[in-house]
Amino acid sequence: MGETKYIFVTGGVASSLGKGIISSSIGKLLQARGYSVTIQKFDPYINIDPGTLNPYEHGECYVTVDGHEADLDLGHYERFLGIETTKANNITTGRIYKSVIDKERRGDYLGKTIQIIPHITDEIKRNVKLLGNKNQFDFVITEIGGTVGDIESLPYLESIRQLKWELGKNALCVHLTYVPYLAAAGELKTKPTQHSVKELQSVGIQPDILVLRTEHELSAGLRKKVALFCNVDEKSVVQSIDASTIYEVPLLMQQQELDETILKKMDLPVGKTPELGAWRSFLDRREKAEETEPVKIALVGKYDLQDAYKSIREALSQAGTYNDRKVDVIFVDSEKLTDENAAETLKDMAGIMIGPGFGQRGIEGKFVALKYARTQDVPTFGICLGMQCMAIEFARNVLGYSDANSREMDAKTTHNVIDIMEEQKAITNMGGTMRLGAYECTLTPGSKSYEAYGKELIKERHRHRYEFNNEYKDKYEAAGMKCTGINPESGLVEIVEIPALKWFVGTQFHPEYSSTVLNPHPLFLSFVKAAINQ
Ligand code: GLN
Repeated sequence: MGETKYIFVTGGVASSLGKGIISSSIGKLLQARGYSVTIQKFDPYINIDPGTLNPYEHGECYVTVDGHEADLDLGHYERFLGIETTKANNITTGRIYKSVIDKERRGDYLGKTIQIIPHITDEIKRNVKLLGNKNQFDFVITEIGGTVGDIESLPYLESIRQLKWELGKNALCVHLTYVPYLAAAGELKTKPTQHSVKELQSVGIQPDILVLRTEHELSAGLRKKVALFCNVDEKSVVQSIDASTIYEVPLLMQQQELDETILKKMDLPVGKTPELGAWRSFLDRREKAEETEPVKIALVGKYDLQDAYKSIREALSQAGTYNDRKVDVIFVDSEKLTDENAAETLKDMAGIMIGPGFGQRGIEGKFVALKYARTQDVPTFGICLGMQCMAIEFARNVLGYSDANSREMDAKTTHNVIDIMEEQKAITNMGGTMRLGAYECTLTPGSKSYEAYGKELIKERHRHRYEFNNEYKDKYEAAGMKCTGINPESGLVEIVEIPALKWFVGTQFHPEYSSTVLNPHPLFLSFVKAAINQ
């Protein structure tokens, strides 16, 4: 393996253009050529991590195997590349500053005045190189959150400028911009792109490759014009046109030989274009599946925002493809669900997904949905808070503890079926008061979960504070709700199931984080299959 190469992905003109998808697609194409690749994201906000952010602000909080609460773009990286990311793959301005300030307090800077340049920029550069240093990756792709021109982005851009200078051919910058279409004029406009590139140039960065987001095909003439005005060769002006699925983007990039252009610019051999066979088969299968009659899955939760349940939606959609059916995820606002409207709202649903979450808001609607699902025997999947709600609903309506609750929702309940547990303290890798990251779980042979995984020992990611209260375990099991997944170290309950029903499974962990395009998650596959067959 040669020296690690660094690719920086910046964005201009507007946010939400899909830098994460472009970074993932570039990563995918390089990986298909046999290179080891990782992708990291820098977020220019002051929070230490997105763990404390409301999903309405920033979409779902993704969790890495090593227990880091991360930006949802890391989910794209993992789904596209099938890699595992870590804490080093997502860094915020808050973390950069905290680290510098901690060093200052320790006296590491020996009386120096601490400044953005060089101290903050050095810390940014250290975090970029951290992934490359151990020589474990051929390529480190670094996505810079935000838009060029934002005050917050400046230290990152300055760091890229320095790194490009230091690393020469081993670094390049891909800049993603937007080409709007003016319907009245019937024209695509390149001026915002030109301005955005100027903005980058004004901080000393000449982008090497431009990716232009567009809703209409870009002509050769237009690409030529952009190339001329922005100091790049024509081949390095690539279009990113709207696609029917984000998973098509790597192929669209490959058609324009973006990977080849990158390799040439970095003095690497080009060789044969990879087939991407498995990826293409997935897309073919997906195309056929999308033409079938949709199977409707209710997603019961409180955040009416696509990105708030990003990984769950992706995992369901992937599971649909692998079951050769289109999945329609229908968001059901748990705050609006009542015993009176439950049957009407849920009657057409082939499956019900009870989402994760924090706090009291919308919780009663989850019990309503679960009572309906349990009594009507609709395939149901509860994740994290969804699993806890399964246990609470069962305690209230089957075990007869009408005030059963989680300590999170009712500190005074006499039936604390979900609580903070003593056993939790036995677990060493605690992030604050939360159980975060991957933990082992032993499955009961013969259970739905065991059938799905096809093995006894699994490892899944967690993000929660409360646990199933083991004092009630025997009562649950006697009444028909089985604890089919147990943490071998602590004895904590990780999965509950009602075997008498068609498919009624709740997991304390988050399986959605580890479902990837080429390795869909077994529980999602099994759940969607049950929904189809019901
Ligand atoms: N609020 C619950 C807990 O902290 C569940 C968290 C979640 O769904 N991720 O235990």
